[in-house]
Amino acid sequence: MSLKDITSNLRAPINTRVADKPTVKVHSVEWRKVMAGEPVEINPSIGHGYKVMTVDEWSARWKPNEAFQECLQCGSKNTKEHHFMQTWCRGKKKWESECLCLECHSFSFRSYCDPDFKTPEDFEKERWQELVKGEAGKPVLAN
Ligand SMILES: [Zn+2]
Repeated sequence: MSLKDITSNLRAPINTRVADKPTVKVHSVEWRKVMAGEPVEINPSIGHGYKVMTVDEWSARWKPNEAFQECLQCGSKNTKEHHFMQTWCRGKKKWESECLCLECHSFSFRSYCDPDFKTPEDFEKERWQELVKGEAGKPVLAN
């Protein structure tokens, strides 16, 4: 999904949330360690083992999300995205993004879902419910 797809043709408000730790599961254990000054795993692409890291060092490889650069806590644009997930299904979209602010160390979470978004599982479930309803409406054959 391009930046334009994320922010254009929105048919519902973007939900936001700000917290002093990741609200998504990813990186939440490491964040606690970084804050406590405990060693965290070095990114396998640059080395191996564990190391005590500063927030800047730990998040060095994350990139900012140009659509959502502003920290929801302090308004700084010195942020980096650590989580992004998107789902497209039959032209409907759903996504979530979380960025870390390097100024105040807050995590800004944003999520969006089209009002009529359904997952492939939802479609499958509905198909089954229709089927079951259809069966229930039929007269039961006695032997
Ligand atoms: Zn901030």
